[in-house]
Amino acid sequence: MSDLLKELIPPNRLMLTPGPSSMDPRVYRAMATPLVGHLDPWFKNMMDDVQAQLRLAFQTENRVTHPISASGSGGIEAAVLNPLEAGDEAIVCINGFFSERMGVIAERTPAKIHRIEVPYGSTVDPEEVRRVGKGRKIKFVGLAHGETSSGVVHNIDAFRQVADELGALLVVDAVATLAGIPLNVDKQRIDICFSGSQKALSAPPGMAPITLSSRAEEVFRNRKTPVQSWYFDLTTALNYWGKERLYHHTPPITLIYGMREALRLVFEEGLEARWERHRRNQQALVAGVEAMGLELFVKNPKDRLITVTAVCVPDGVNDLKVRNQLLDDFDIEIAGGFGPVKGKIWRIGLMGFSAQRNNVLLFLAAFEKVLLDQGFHVPAGAGVGAAVRTYLQPVAVGAK
Ligand SMILES: *Cc1c(COP(=O)(O)O)cnc(C)c1O
Repeated sequence: MSDLLKELIPPNRLMLTPGPSSMDPRVYRAMATPLVGHLDPWFKNMMDDVQAQLRLAFQTENRVTHPISASGSGGIEAAVLNPLEAGDEAIVCINGFFSERMGVIAERTPAKIHRIEVPYGSTVDPEEVRRVGKGRKIKFVGLAHGETSSGVVHNIDAFRQVADELGALLVVDAVATLAGIPLNVDKQRIDICFSGSQKALSAPPGMAPITLSSRAEEVFRNRKTPVQSWYFDLTTALNYWGKERLYHHTPPITLIYGMREALRLVFEEGLEARWERHRRNQQALVAGVEAMGLELFVKNPKDRLITVTAVCVPDGVNDLKVRNQLLDDFDIEIAGGFGPVKGKIWRIGLMGFSAQRNNVLLFLAAFEKVLLDQGFHVPAGAGVGAAVRTYLQPVAVGAK
């Protein structure tokens, strides 16, 4: 019989990658419920739930808050294309692959883009933004909150302050951070903030939640020319996600069911408890890999992204062999590096449903076995032992 006629049975993997993360079984169940039409009154009401949930997740009262029908990169497109027109200038802070993508997308518009680039593993200094923007009319300052390609986190508040001085909007890529680490769109006064469904939300891939401040909305309303992209034009998309619920395009209805359930899980747990769970499990992972004699790629602990930990591949160890063996022998997927850090780092994601104690301990045990097989000496049980000790410390706000 041809393979084409066989039932699809994917392997049961544990995804410890920078996305997608593993999903709670309840999310799969929600996605197996009946399809309805995107203009069905029941669905139009259900859209209200998702928008209210997303406002809670982003910690905002912004009117315009909804999932874009696209992956996280579609969120970048929308966030960058909507504010920019010919004659505008913008600053993009680039410290890795995804913030680079924001720069590349911005450079496809007729606007003038100022890149501030630093090596992988570093943060951009807000002082540089002040220097580059001085005396210019800057439309927005863009940055990645969490730069997944290198495991680095930015302190948003310092950039807000500089953007205020420049009279610029603040655009933040929160694809890797929403519902994983503290983020408060209203308090931090982020004008355009977007995320991805498949990272710390642990919803199915294919949606990019976005939220706009009233200031951003005003900038869009005052455009002189239409947004280059019809699909990602947020003003026309609002005919559907706004009050009128008029047809714009057919959204991924089933994915929206999944996102609703994933967000329900977020609020059953509580945002703060969820942030604490991510922090605690990453702390255990870090203690474990360091005890195994491995080095973290990001040297300054305060710059380390909690949802993705970058670990240096030790000399003489083959990155790909380790990852392949983890997958083949243990059904665990971790990621390698891109671009300048290809072959040099592993990226271990602890996002959403994947960020659990069981997974950290299983991973460290499996990692020890694989590293030993690949000829790297690890003291017996060092990783698991160190991680267990971090879990002995008292738990804050009820995290598991
Ligand atoms: C994953 C990621 C993206 C891209 O998302 P896709 O869903 O792969 O398009 C963008 N920015 C950051 C920070 C990410 O982690």
